Amino acid sequence: MGTVTVHPGRESYEQTLHFVRHPKRCMHRDPVPEMTLPPIDGQTQLVGLVGWPVGHSASPAMQNAAFDACGLNWRYVPLPVAPGRIRAGLEGLAALGFRGANVTVPHKRAVLPALTTVAPDARALGAVNTVVVEESGTESPVMRGDNTDATGFIESLQEGGFDPEGASIVVVGAGGGARAVVFGLAQAGARNVVILNRSLERATTLVSDLKPYAPSVLEAESLGREQLVENARGADLLVNATPLGMVGQEDTSIWPDELSLPSHLTVFDLVYNPRQTKLLGQARRGGADVVDGLGMLVRQGALAFEMWTGQEAPVEVMRSAGEGALR
Ligand code: NAP
Repeated sequence: MGTVTVHPGRESYEQTLHFVRHPKRCMHRDPVPEMTLPPIDGQTQLVGLVGWPVGHSASPAMQNAAFDACGLNWRYVPLPVAPGRIRAGLEGLAALGFRGANVTVPHKRAVLPALTTVAPDARALGAVNTVVVEESGTESPVMRGDNTDATGFIESLQEGGFDPEGASIVVVGAGGGARAVVFGLAQAGARNVVILNRSLERATTLVSDLKPYAPSVLEAESLGREQLVENARGADLLVNATPLGMVGQEDTSIWPDELSLPSHLTVFDLVYNPRQTKLLGQARRGGADVVDGLGMLVRQGALAFEMWTGQEAPVEVMRSAGEGALR
């Protein structure tokens, strides 16, 4: 009898033996998916998502739906790259002829030194979320890094009916998402932005990093109930850039339970899974306008699509594929 490998995820030798003797049938999905992407062949162009982990992402669904809608023989695949392996990951990407990639946690910052050029916005933010392979097949491939998060945020904010020019804004959080938000707001002419964060040091660093690029007044404060309520009272827009409210912590919110949220505010939640967060529920009950995080996810993806393909992105197709993937 030949050797039997114990497959990861199957706990015992007996289970593995059962699998080998009774392999699972390939099941057709019902209903038959509507996508009609051409078969993968020698002309298929590849892009992907480099991160760790990448299995939960809605980006493959959004990008592949966009390729399908535009009749492009392209595919977008998840590419798990372990922490510390980003340089090797990018070299592999170019060597395999990929046209580019999105970059996500934990590589957004670490990827910078591995790139040939970095766009000014990404340099200012200190983070890259899109790579375009401009030339591959040589020992020194040419790869450009960009960041579409800030523009994606501003486009979805405007789509939600809010004009940031001259506005007074409170951003809660000082991580990667908050950096893109603050940079985008400053570039779009916000009057002043107050960054409230649990760790004051991180908020202060964000302010000093982005001040050179921001005509707006940027201020850092530590996150506390009083600071939040006081700043929100005088603001036009409140942005949540923390994971509070996301799947696994749906019952949490930056806003205190017992207080009504001011009706004059627009509230933007970066969290997109679930789309209807506790914070947005509180905002609606208080009479405020709300914008959920899906639009930003879609817009940053649409901008990346355009960078890779040179074609206009089918934004509504991407939105409905993103919605479907998050359901
Ligand atoms: P990150 O870099 O890890 O930063 C997380 C931020 O949240 C930090 O400022 C952290 O404060 C704060 N935070 C975490 N737990 C907290 C808590 N219990 N109470 C108060 N503050 C807390 O994460 P990120 O990449 O910015 O992402 C933040 C959220 O935005 C995630 O849900 C992410 O999915 C979402 N996001 C959405 C989009 C989109 O396209 N819609 C884009 C980017 C991010 P400390 O500094 O004190 O730790």
